[in-house]
Amino acid sequence: MPSENLFYAVRVDGNFSYIKARSVPRQEKPYPKLADAVSSQSVFEFENISGTLVGFRTPEYVKGVNVPGYHLHFITEDRSAGGHVLDIEMENGESSLDITNAFFMELPTSGDFYNVELGQDLQADMEKVEK
Ligand SMILES: [Zn+2]
Repeated sequence: MPSENLFYAVRVDGNFSYIKARSVPRQEKPYPKLADAVSSQSVFEFENISGTLVGFRTPEYVKGVNVPGYHLHFITEDRSAGGHVLDIEMENGESSLDITNAFFMELPTSGDFYNVELGQDLQADMEKVEK
């Protein structure tokens, strides 16, 4: 990486000795906070599996709008299973980075977003959810 201050799209095709991933079921209105939604998550463990990781590396200074660090999802080589990566041990593979010098956030122009309370500090929740 030429700088820790840029965004990166990440892809890794490889062989993994271990992957722990989760999937959260589809949610219904009124939507719960992510920290509450993940209480019904399914956790999958894969051993000696081939597949692809995709995701983003987000710089530290966007904390509050996004989650800093790596956010990776895994899908098996046959595209039959996967999820949000919680833990990983990689044997070998090939990685690609796309350096991204722009961050675009589009907000709804109507609907529930106009009135939902978003001012609370969810940093502690986010750290619990991401680990
Ligand atoms: Zn995810």
